[in-house]
Amino acid sequence: MSDQTNSLAVPCPRCERPMRAGLVKTTLVVQDQIYIVEDIQAMVCDECVEQFYDEDTTDALRRLSQDGFPSAEIVREILVPVYSITPRMKRYTGIPVEEQPETAQAESSI
Ligand SMILES: [Zn+2]
Repeated sequence: MSDQTNSLAVPCPRCERPMRAGLVKTTLVVQDQIYIVEDIQAMVCDECVEQFYDEDTTDALRRLSQDGFPSAEIVREILVPVYSITPRMKRYTGIPVEEQPETAQAESSI
């Protein structure tokens, strides 16, 4: 199977090196919910770690999202570890960049 894919030798649009066909996963985040989609047929560039989907695949992904990720189609579920970057930061203000902090300084002044 890999012999056939090599003969295609589609060049990467970014670095122009030959890409290979492969099955990949992608992670989609919709309204704070993480979805992982696997078994995606893609052209993969190992040089710049870029993945390219054809029209059929792009369309299927869009429809999955538009259908609201139906629970009937869930293949399996995994536990996703969540980290805070705070312990690794040299300077951490705790102030969100986009939104103003809540008025939560009443307690700290006591
Ligand atoms: Zn590339």
